[in-house]
Parts: sequence; structure tokens; C-alpha cells
Amino acid sequence: MAFLRHRLPHSNPMNMANSLPKHYLVASDFDQTLTFNDSGYALSEMLGIPTAEFERKARGMADLNLVQQGAELAYLLLHDPEFRARVRKHHLHEVGKRIRLKANVALLADLLSKGIDGCRFEFYVISAAPVEVIESALEGILASDHIFGTRFAYTADGEIERVMQATAGYGKVAALDQLQGKLGISPDHVIYIGDGSSDVHAMLHVNFREGFTIAVSETKHVSHIAQRRVLSENALAVLVPILENLGWDQRRIRAFFETYGVSIQGWDRVRADWLKLQPIKMKEAVATNVSGS
Ligand SMILES: [Mg+2]
Repeated sequence: MAFLRHRLPHSNPMNMANSLPKHYLVASDFDQTLTFNDSGYALSEMLGIPTAEFERKARGMADLNLVQQGAELAYLLLHDPEFRARVRKHHLHEVGKRIRLKANVALLADLLSKGIDGCRFEFYVISAAPVEVIESALEGILASDHIFGTRFAYTADGEIERVMQATAGYGKVAALDQLQGKLGISPDHVIYIGDGSSDVHAMLHVNFREGFTIAVSETKHVSHIAQRRVLSENALAVLVPILENLGWDQRRIRAFFETYGVSIQGWDRVRADWLKLQPIKMKEAVATNVSGS
């Protein structure tokens, strides 16, 4: 893993080139990566649309494969009569204020922006959620120019008119490439954090270019692709695999967290094998035994 080569300066004090700060791009998804729930659920709840109804419609959209994975909400906002008639721009801002962030999102953003032990981290959010929701939720935490979300054009009365840009599925790869070029960060210094199927393209892209990927859920496709998986209700937990890959041991990471008033209470490592087992039908079993004998 190329990322492992980028040790902290102190880990190789003889190499003067290593005394230069390392520059990384940390790109994170929003829904269920920095929050506990999807923006679509929060929006439906706020508008009095049963969340089961939103779930049914979103799943139906996903099954059609008509839009990029993760863009289901954007499609519903534009094309579903119930959502389109009811949702206005100010509702998206309001949802951002209601959505529940994981603990320590602000501290995570702060630590990354300050840099850690000689490493500089550019922290960006790249999400399929409407940009108004993310900007509102992260107001005072992350500047709006560090947020990529789905952008709509609105009519004069705030009704959604059209999608201007959707940062879902492969749209996240385009946003990552754009950022990398702008910031001048090499592909193997890109760290991507996500939880769901909308993150698959971005993770495959980052892995292929020798960056580092972290899954924060047990969603099958994503956790299979990501190089590391970390499950926590605290956003700061994603720093653990990042710091480990920079050469830090558990004791040092615990001490670092404690400096910022966060104690690591449980640290379990579980390597999971995903298996689907089913009984062999009698006829197949007989055929196998015959051909194997
Ligand atoms: Mg997500």
C-alpha cells in the first residue's frame, strides 16, 4: 500500500526531504458518514411524508438504476410530484439544522485543518445530498467552498427547477479529480471516507491510484472495497486508521485523543468473512459425489 510509505517526518529523521509537511486530501461523504441518518429521511420527516414512503420510492429508484447511486433524493425532489410540490429551498436549509451529526465532527475538521505532526490535511465533503443541507448542517464547522453537494437551480419562489450538478456515484470521482488538480495533491495522498453504494466509484478510483479508503459502515460493497473499516458513532474514529497508516501505534493514538478530551473506551478489531451458505440440493449433492468419485 503506497500510503504506508508516507511516514511522519520523525519516523525517518535522517531524510531531510521528509521534514517537509506532507499534504493530504481527506474527502468524506456526508449522509451516514458524518451523520446518523440520510438527508432524505430527515426531509421526509420534516414535511410529514412518511419515511416508509420515502424509503419505498428511493429503493424503487435505486432498483431502476436510472440515476447514479445516491442521487435518488435529487431525482425525487425534481420528478416526484409529492416532493416537488412541497420542497422549497428553505426546507433544505432547515433539514441541515435538524439532521443529527455524529459526535466530534467539528473537532475532526479542526484537527485536520490545523494539521497533525507535520502533516497537512485538506478536508472536503463530497456528497450526493443537496448542498444546502450540508452547508447548513456544517455551518461554522466547514467553509462552503470545502463542500461539494448536489446543486439545484430554483425558480423565483424557491421551487426546484433543475439539477445543475449531481455529486453522486461517478460524480464524486469527477469532484475528487477536480479537487486534486486544484490543490496539487498526488493521487496516493488522497484519503476517501464513505459508507454507502454512492461511494463505490470513488473508493475504486482512489484505491486504483494508490490512495487510502475507509468505510464507516458494514454496507457490503463498500466495506469490501475499502482498505480499512471503522465503525463508531464518533466522527473522530476515522483518524485511527489514518494515524496508524502514518506509523502511529495504539498508545500514541490513545494519548493524542485524550489530549483533545476524547477517551477511547473500546477498541475491538474484528476481521469479518462474508459468507452466504445454503444447503446443497440432494440432486446436486449426488452429482457432485458421482463426479468427484
Ligand atoms: Mg452516505
